[in-house]
Amino acid sequence: MSAGLRMLTRSRSRSPRTRPRGGGEEPASIPRREVAAEGREKHRPGKCQQKTQRLHVAYEALDGEKGEGAEPLKVSAWEPQGWQQQLANIRTMRSKKDAPVDQLGAEHCYDPSAPPKVRRYQVLLSLMLSSQTKDQVTAGAMQRLRARGLTVDSILQTDDSTLGELIYPVGFWRSKVKFIKQTSAILQQHYDGDIPASVAELVALPGVGPKMAHLAMAVAWGTISGIAVDTHVHRIANRLRWTQRPTKSPEATRAALEEWLPRELWSEINGLLVGFGQQTCLPVHPRCQACLNQALCPTAQGL
Ligand code: SF4
Repeated sequence: MSAGLRMLTRSRSRSPRTRPRGGGEEPASIPRREVAAEGREKHRPGKCQQKTQRLHVAYEALDGEKGEGAEPLKVSAWEPQGWQQQLANIRTMRSKKDAPVDQLGAEHCYDPSAPPKVRRYQVLLSLMLSSQTKDQVTAGAMQRLRARGLTVDSILQTDDSTLGELIYPVGFWRSKVKFIKQTSAILQQHYDGDIPASVAELVALPGVGPKMAHLAMAVAWGTISGIAVDTHVHRIANRLRWTQRPTKSPEATRAALEEWLPRELWSEINGLLVGFGQQTCLPVHPRCQACLNQALCPTAQGL
């Protein structure tokens, strides 16, 4: 094996499954072909960790694909300097799991005793409500909706002004009333009251963006389809220079992170960084003095 090239022998994760962080029942499984399609769509190669030598190019092959006809994949070896230590420090700072997202995130807002497709609908709804909204406000709105029995049918039978009163004061509540009604009608007509099991179909629903879609795949379906990047993840990734160059949108940050972050960390990164952003790396006046990453953080060092 040459010094500059090596064959990665680690098997590639194929749509690893995760449990909802809040516990509860196992999500219903999805058709295998959709899981495979999702994995192909979002796969980014892993990286080879080697301390003494930086590799520029590597090849990765799936188990069973190393023989004839297997096309090796080129893997970028770029990675942010010191990211493992920065990540370890964030895990330490987040060890108490006492940020709002830890108690009130989407994985805590559904009724665990409801039938699987109702649970999945509730997960999607809580994600739709959560954009531009504090976790506490989203949780309150979900509580009021669930008190009336939160299903596709019940939402479609609720008039717009009542629905508005129930979800107020979530951000952009008027638009969300409209999106929730439109999305619920589509789910009833095309998905038998369930939610779709692919990112492509989820983002096609009114009011559902990529971050919500990836979180819905993880929480509702137990499938890791990509890194869910919201404003916290976007901001912190840029402050720590976890993107090769500055990114202007959460979607650009997601693509940049997926280029190098090992896939086995994808499911962890959203909750970890959202809580870190809520407690320490605040949008305005981050608490750098209290941050274990202060000496390792390019932003704090003025770089
Ligand atoms: S040092 Fe400051 S800017 Fe850097 S990660 Fe910590 S809180 Fe955020």
